Amino acid sequence: MPNPESPHGPVRPRTAVLTAGFDPHLSFGSARPAVFRSSTYVFSSPEEAEHAFSVLAGRVPAEEGMRADLIYSRFSHPNAEILEDQIVPLEPGAQAAGVFNSGMAAIMTAFLTVARPGTTIVYTTPLYGGTTGLIHSLLEPFGVQSTPVPGGDTEAIGRAIRSARNVSVVYLETPANPTMVMTDIRHASEAARNHPDRPVVMVDNTFLGPTFQHPLMLGADLVLYSGTKYLSGMSDMVAGVALSKDPQLMRKILARRSMFGNILQPDECWMLDGRLPTVALRMNRQSKNANRLAEALHGHPKIRRVLYPTLFEDAEQRRIYEEQCAYPGGIFSLDFEGRPAAFDFLRSLRIGRNAVSLGGVETLVCHPKSTTHSGMSAQELDEAGIGDGLVRVSVGIEDWRDLLADFEQALERVK
Ligand SMILES: *Cc1c(COP(=O)(O)O)cnc(C)c1O
Repeated sequence: MPNPESPHGPVRPRTAVLTAGFDPHLSFGSARPAVFRSSTYVFSSPEEAEHAFSVLAGRVPAEEGMRADLIYSRFSHPNAEILEDQIVPLEPGAQAAGVFNSGMAAIMTAFLTVARPGTTIVYTTPLYGGTTGLIHSLLEPFGVQSTPVPGGDTEAIGRAIRSARNVSVVYLETPANPTMVMTDIRHASEAARNHPDRPVVMVDNTFLGPTFQHPLMLGADLVLYSGTKYLSGMSDMVAGVALSKDPQLMRKILARRSMFGNILQPDECWMLDGRLPTVALRMNRQSKNANRLAEALHGHPKIRRVLYPTLFEDAEQRRIYEEQCAYPGGIFSLDFEGRPAAFDFLRSLRIGRNAVSLGGVETLVCHPKSTTHSGMSAQELDEAGIGDGLVRVSVGIEDWRDLLADFEQALERVK
């Protein structure tokens, strides 16, 4: 019986990640994939070589359900194909995936596939700093216009999309980093679908996906990840993933990847592939830990505010969270009186480490205004609500009671 909840047939994502997409017979019966490090692949005949290049260039369509023959590892290689086939079932609604050597590589390649000079990108603010930089210092000088709109403002986002001309991309990042502000994906996707230009809706799903938020099921066209974060989960590799319900769109993105040479390398594919079956386990534990910590710290006299989905006060933010996310996730921010208090806290933690990045099994804590978000202007920081007292916490899988004790002893040292 097909499972009506699953667009991937009879089993759910956590099962499919272990059963779909990898055939042990193609790896000498090995239960886990072998690593194929070759840069080039041997053809059985010159005719086959000619055919492979015709398929690669799109002169001849690939046979139904068949992958193009392997040619050269900048285009694709077995470990990329295995990883792509195994990650598709983890993202509800996805039909095709592409893997990249960083999250930024995936985001850049998606933009450069769809955005053209003279077209407009509508995007929510704040975005990941690297993405903001990509828009301002690469795309805009190439003649792509951009229209920022505050994340979370459902009405304003709808209006910005409806009134944009020559719009090629609607780009959302939700929840926003580090304020956790949520944007309604379904609403923005509807506005894009009704626009005569039919822009491509892209969602950076790094914070809550693939376990707790499913943009493709809400109408988005493309989901992007920094695989460096929750997907790999050990803070020991850099990777990126794009997933789409439209194989045609993915083919175009992969053609750009072949040109840029930013495919994820075989060893990295193999590593990330081995992490996929535990993504849901890790994220569930991280979310439970964060939930307990955020709620225990809520109301603490040294903290002005805890920014976390279960503590949202704004009715619209609550609605978006409840409709769009299965669980609140492993990240929260603490708002202290000012920078000295925030720095005292960072200095005093013993288990939580002061580092950027997030999504790893260890708890990491940082001060966004002076680090990850230091490239933003004073006005942008102000509008996004990123103040001197804000500290971002990415909660790991440690025992939450030890983390709480660590946070409490650090709070005692805050003057
Ligand atoms: C880290 C991150 C990125 C960039 O990914 P890299 O793997 O570092 O290139 C993009 N978006 C978000 C939300 C991130 O956290």
